[in-house]
Amino acid sequence: MNLILLGPPGAGKGTQAKVLQESRGLKQLSTGDMLRTAIAAGSEIGLKAKVIMDRGDLVSDEVILDVVAERMGKPDIKAGVVFDGFPRTPAQAQALDKMLAARGQKVDAVIEMKVEDEVLISRISGRYTCAKCGKGYHDSFAKPARPGICDACGSTEFTRRADDNEKTVRDRLNVYNKQTAPLVSYYTSRGNLRSVDGMADINHVTDAIGHILDGVQR
Ligand code: ADP
Ligand code: ADP
Ligand code: ZN
Repeated sequence: MNLILLGPPGAGKGTQAKVLQESRGLKQLSTGDMLRTAIAAGSEIGLKAKVIMDRGDLVSDEVILDVVAERMGKPDIKAGVVFDGFPRTPAQAQALDKMLAARGQKVDAVIEMKVEDEVLISRISGRYTCAKCGKGYHDSFAKPARPGICDACGSTEFTRRADDNEKTVRDRLNVYNKQTAPLVSYYTSRGNLRSVDGMADINHVTDAIGHILDGVQR
């Protein structure tokens, strides 16, 4: 099964993609995480992407599609993918359709996660991540059970993203509305878009997504 989580920054895509990876054996493919890995490695792609990401713009379709194609070539991806933060433009969506068709696959479901702008801003302002395993947390909404210790791996080191500040978030929301929101009609016209209330508690969102996936024909 290939699934796309579609939604603005802070909608909860990464949080739910990690749950689906554990519960359904899908691989999370987060283009944002892949770019941050490239930045940390100091690669040429990373150096170029950093400037663009820091101002909240989109990295070019060409670069993103190269990175995704390379990842899709790895054998661990066979059971299916949960795409998180990709596709973000109509050109990326068309390229993904082609990439999957070449493997005899398709996008089986697109789940749009709807959250109000002011909530997105407060989510992103309080977001942090385990430096070791990547589990996501929030200062108010998703704290670890024991303060300062990752629930998943026990690490005590956490990171915050350079682009998770209020100014950049507003720019990212504008970019989402202009460049990514058109994908809602792209997938609606293909008949595989479903929406969930992303404002609900994390566990409720997980249940809503699970319910949709249980009904998806493959
Ligand atoms: P995205 O990947 O869509 O940008 P994240 O999954 O990183 O979003 O979530 C953004 C922040 O909001 C994180 O700090 C996360 O812990 C928190 N969060 C995610 N889902 C919810 C939810 N349903 N309710 C409250 N906070 C949430
Ligand atoms: P969020 O879900 O919080 O918006 P991501 O981690 O998905 O954050 O993306 C962070 C940044 O990485 C984006 O603002 C953009 O600059 C870049 N990026 C990630 N995925 C894509 C993509 N599919 N196309 C273009 N740029 C991307
Ligand atoms: Zn951890």
